[in-house]
Amino acid sequence: MKGISLWALMLTLLFPSFSYSFASEITNHNVKHVTAGVVSNFPPQYSLDDDGNPQGFAIDSMNAIAEIAGVSVDYKVYDHWGDLNSALRTGEVDLIPNNGITNARREYSDFSQPIETFAISVFVRKDSTGVESLVDLKDTVIGVVERNAAVLYLEDVNYQTQVYPDFSNLLIDLVSGRIDAAAYPEPVVWKVAQETGLDHRIRSINPPLIEIKRGLAFPKGHTNLISLFEPAISQFIVSEDYERIYNKWHAKPKPFWNTRKVITLLLTLSVIYLFVASLWRNYSLSKINTRLKLESDLRDQAERDLKSLNVELEEKIGLRTEELAQRNRILNSIDHLREQFIKDPDPFVLFPELLENLLKLTNSQFGFIGDVLIEEDGEKYLKVYAISSARLAAGEANSEFYNLLDKSIEIREMDDLIGEAVRSGNPFITNNPKKDSKFSGSISKYPTINTYMEVPVYFGSKLVGVIGLANRKGGYNHESLQELRPVIAALGQIIVGRWDKQARLNAECELKLQASTDSLTGISNRRSFELKVNEEVKRANRYNEPLSLIMLDIDHFKQVNDKYGHDAGDTILIELVEQLQTRLRETDFLARWGGEEFMIILPSTSLETGVTLAERLREVTENYLFTHQPITTISLGVTTYQQNEEIGDFISRTDKALYEAKHSGRNQVAVQKPKFLSFVEGN
Ligand code: GH3
Ligand code: MG
Ligand code: MG
Repeated sequence: MKGISLWALMLTLLFPSFSYSFASEITNHNVKHVTAGVVSNFPPQYSLDDDGNPQGFAIDSMNAIAEIAGVSVDYKVYDHWGDLNSALRTGEVDLIPNNGITNARREYSDFSQPIETFAISVFVRKDSTGVESLVDLKDTVIGVVERNAAVLYLEDVNYQTQVYPDFSNLLIDLVSGRIDAAAYPEPVVWKVAQETGLDHRIRSINPPLIEIKRGLAFPKGHTNLISLFEPAISQFIVSEDYERIYNKWHAKPKPFWNTRKVITLLLTLSVIYLFVASLWRNYSLSKINTRLKLESDLRDQAERDLKSLNVELEEKIGLRTEELAQRNRILNSIDHLREQFIKDPDPFVLFPELLENLLKLTNSQFGFIGDVLIEEDGEKYLKVYAISSARLAAGEANSEFYNLLDKSIEIREMDDLIGEAVRSGNPFITNNPKKDSKFSGSISKYPTINTYMEVPVYFGSKLVGVIGLANRKGGYNHESLQELRPVIAALGQIIVGRWDKQARLNAECELKLQASTDSLTGISNRRSFELKVNEEVKRANRYNEPLSLIMLDIDHFKQVNDKYGHDAGDTILIELVEQLQTRLRETDFLARWGGEEFMIILPSTSLETGVTLAERLREVTENYLFTHQPITTISLGVTTYQQNEEIGDFISRTDKALYEAKHSGRNQVAVQKPKFLSFVEGN
C-alpha cells in the first residue's frame, strides 16, 4: 500500500509539466460527457455486479477522475478485449479506463499518464514440483489471453504459448492439467481464482514476466480528452480517494485470523466461558442448593419425626410411669391396709383410710366400704364402716368425713344405686344413672351421683363386702375396675381376716372369763381370788395399806340340797351372791372359794371396818327371803393382814375365824386378829 502511495508521488513529480501544459486547454474544451468501454470480466479492473453494472478498480477510479474533471461517464460493456479495442478504434467509446500501456497499443491509442501498474506473472499449479522460474517452463506451453501483453512478451523470448479468449477458460485448463502454466496480470489472476474458488490450487513463480503500467486509453489523436483528464488524474493519484479505491479492489484478502480477531475471539470465548461457567456454577449451585434443601428438608422431616416420636415415647413413658405409679399407689395402699390390719383390725380405722386411698386412686368424689352380712332370715345387708360425709358437696372431698362415722351404718333397703352389686353379685358401673329408669341417681342425704361404680368383694366364692365409688370425672370403665382388682382381693382377705380375728378374740375372752369366773354365779373363782389376794398383799406391803379378808359359809347348806334339791341350792347360791354384791364397795372383791364358801377381799380396809361389813352382810342374808328356803344364814370369819406375813397364814387365820363362828353357833361373825395386833391389844 505504501509502495502504491510512493508510486503515485513519483508519478506526480515526474509529470508536473503535463498538469501544467494542459491546464490552459482544460478551459478550452467543453466536453461534458464521455462513454467508457470495459470488458465484462477482468477483475479487479472490471467485472459486473449482480445487476449487470460494471464495477472494479478501473470503474471507481474512472468515476473519481471524471468527477474531478467535471465530466459524467457511462459505460459500455464488451465480452472480449478484441470487441472493446474495435469499439475504441471506431469511436464507439471515448476511452478505456486503465488499459495496459504497451508499445503495440500506442499505435492506435493515446494513453494518459499511468494510474497504476501491475505485474504479469506466470502461474503453475500449486503441486507442480521443480518449477521455480520461467526457465523451468522452456519445453511447456504457457497459456495466455489474446491481446494480453504476455502474448507478445513470451513470443519475444521464444516461449510456446496457447492463446485463450478469456482468462476463465485458461485457469480451468491450468488447474485441470491441460496446460502447465499460465501468464496473466497477477491481480486479475488472483481475483478470478478467488471468485472461482481455485486460488489455493495455483501459485505464481518469480520473477514476474513484465510490469505493465495502466492508464486511460483514448483513440489516437483525441488530445482534448487527454488534456481534459490529465490534471484530474494527477490530482486523483495523490488523493486519499485513490488509496481507498486501490485498497478496495487490490488489497489481498486480509487473513481472517488477525490479532484483533484472535483477541476478540479469545475475549468472546472467555466471556462465553465465564458466562457458561457462571451458568454452570449457578446451575450446579442451584442443584447443590436443591440437594441441600432436600437434605435439610429431609433432616427437618427426620427431626420432626424424631420429635413426634419422642413426644409419643414421652407420652407412652408418661402413661406407663403413671400406670406404674398408680400400681405402686395401689400396692402401697394394700400394704398399708395389711399393716394396719395387723396393728389394729378395727374397721373404723381400716376402712376410712382405705376409702380415702380409693377415692384418690380412682379420682372419685364419693364412696363407701362395707361388709356384706347375712341376717338370720337369710337376707343380705350392708354394714358400712366408711362413707363419704353426707355434708360433702362436689369437690369438697377431704379426710375429715372419715371421722364422722363413729358407728357403722346398716343398710338393709338396697333399692337404688347402692347395693346393686350386692344384689347381683357382679360389678356394676353406670355413667349416667339418671337415664337408667331403674335408678333415681341419688341417695337420700348424699350428693347427686353422676357416675357410679360398685364392686363386690369376695373371699373365695363368698361375697363378704362391697366398695362403692362415685362421681369420677369422665366416668368409670372396665379399666378402673381392673385397676382395683388387687385392692379388692386384699380387702376380701382383710374383711374375712378381721372377722376371724374378731371371732378368735371373742373366744379367747370367753375362755379367759371361763377360767377366772365361777360359771354358776358369774363372780371370780378361787384362782382369780388367789391372783387378786396376791396382788393386794403386795400392794398392802408396798404402801403399808390395811387389808382385810372375810370368809363366809352358808349354814347347814347340806340340808337345803337334801331337802329341795341341788338346783334349789344353786338358786340360793345365786341369790346370795346378788345380795352380797349389792352391799359391797367397788373396790371390794368377792370370789367363790369353793362349794358354798366365799371370800371377800377388802383393800384399804381395817379389821374394824371389815368386821362391821361382815356383820352387815350377815344381817342382810338373814333378813333376805330366799326362794326355796326363805331363811338362810351365813357364818363369817374376819381377819386383817399383818405386814410381811405369808399369804397362807393370812388366809388360814380367816378360815380359823370362820371355824370359830361355826362353833360358836353359826349366823355370826368371828374375828381373828393377827399376832401383832393381838399382842398390841393384849397389852
Ligand atoms: P355347816 O356348814 O353349817 O356345818 O353345815 P353344812 O351342811 O353346810 O355342812 P358342809 O359344809 O359339810 O356341807 C356342805 C354342803 O353343801 C355339801 C354339798 O352338798 C353342798 N354343796 C356344796 N357345793 C354345792 C353346790 O354348788 N350346790 C348345791 N346345791 N349344794 C352344794
Ligand atoms: Mg355350810
Ligand atoms: Mg361348807
